[in-house]
Amino acid sequence: MITTVLIDIDNTLLDFDECARLSAEKAFADFGLPMREDVFAVFTAVNNFLWSQIEARKLTRDELHKIRWQMIFDELEIRADGEAFEERFVEYLFNSCVPVEGAHSLLEYLSERYKVFAASNASLDQQKNRLGKADMLKYMSGLFVSGDIGFPKPSKEFFDACFERLGSPPRSEVILIGDSPAADIIGGHAFGITTCWLNRGGESAADVPADYTVSSLAQIKGIL
Ligand SMILES: [Mg+2]
Repeated sequence: MITTVLIDIDNTLLDFDECARLSAEKAFADFGLPMREDVFAVFTAVNNFLWSQIEARKLTRDELHKIRWQMIFDELEIRADGEAFEERFVEYLFNSCVPVEGAHSLLEYLSERYKVFAASNASLDQQKNRLGKADMLKYMSGLFVSGDIGFPKPSKEFFDACFERLGSPPRSEVILIGDSPAADIIGGHAFGITTCWLNRGGESAADVPADYTVSSLAQIKGIL
């Protein structure tokens, strides 16, 4: 019987893509750079690559912040100070809180039935601030965030730390909901907990070992 829900934040509860796009637009305006249509596609490709490196423990978040926007500007052949831009971008991102459709309703539903904890790869201050602004903190019994825990999803160390903080419940009582096949589903599956993959984009499910797959948050109410 499930008693505890771990739920990812970015692109699960908060629309990271939209938060990042709005933050980039504001920072482009601040730096007097013309916004181009291809910026967000390049941002997404570079950002996803760097986060896959972090999840594989080949890169740290500090290193990402040093190189992310410089890599994007190099790719776009834009001359700008990537590190200074990153700082401004992260300031905007810190306060960004566009919800994914159905997030409030799902959290309200889940928090009436289970203990709900966020499980996210990011800085704790940032995620706490964003969930607070989105009025979602009230549904959470706690936040497990890699910047605080010291290890990212999908590492065993991340899940070990979560379980220690949870008081070591049986793994059969815990479900992880998230959008990332690598960080959430493969990580949770390897740790031996139930997984629910939020696949809003209709990606191929061939290699994703999810116990449940949904295309919207609303569908989770039919499972839990
Ligand atoms: Mg995510």
